[in-house]
Amino acid sequence: MTDCKPLILLVEDNEQNLELATYLLEEAGYEVAPARDARSVRAAFDGPAPSLVLMDMHLPGSDGLSLVRELRSRADWRTVPVIALTAHAMRGDRERFLAGGCDDYIAKPVDTASFARQVAERLRAGRAGGAP
Ligand code: MN
Repeated sequence: MTDCKPLILLVEDNEQNLELATYLLEEAGYEVAPARDARSVRAAFDGPAPSLVLMDMHLPGSDGLSLVRELRSRADWRTVPVIALTAHAMRGDRERFLAGGCDDYIAKPVDTASFARQVAERLRAGRAGGAP
């Protein structure tokens, strides 16, 4: 049954955040592919597209939005829903993330009670506004 699980690319450079999100996603029945830096994300772009991407907006040496831009330039990845993750939400961030190719936004620290449900809802809905 393992191959039936939706695959989620989880981009997060903070080890504690990565562990918590991985635990919550695996508990909810997802398979998690972790990526801790921009290099690993770009390596993932050369492989098969996941069902959904969770993208930390603050990575050492790169920002999440430029990686999302690269992601959207890949034919196979264009339709993959992307949820932005950030710890330092500021006014206008949500709009900036959505305009930059993300479909949703989750603030860190993640709410353990609702995190997996937010992911499930975005998986079900697909890209925001049905945008391919
Ligand atoms: Mn980070």
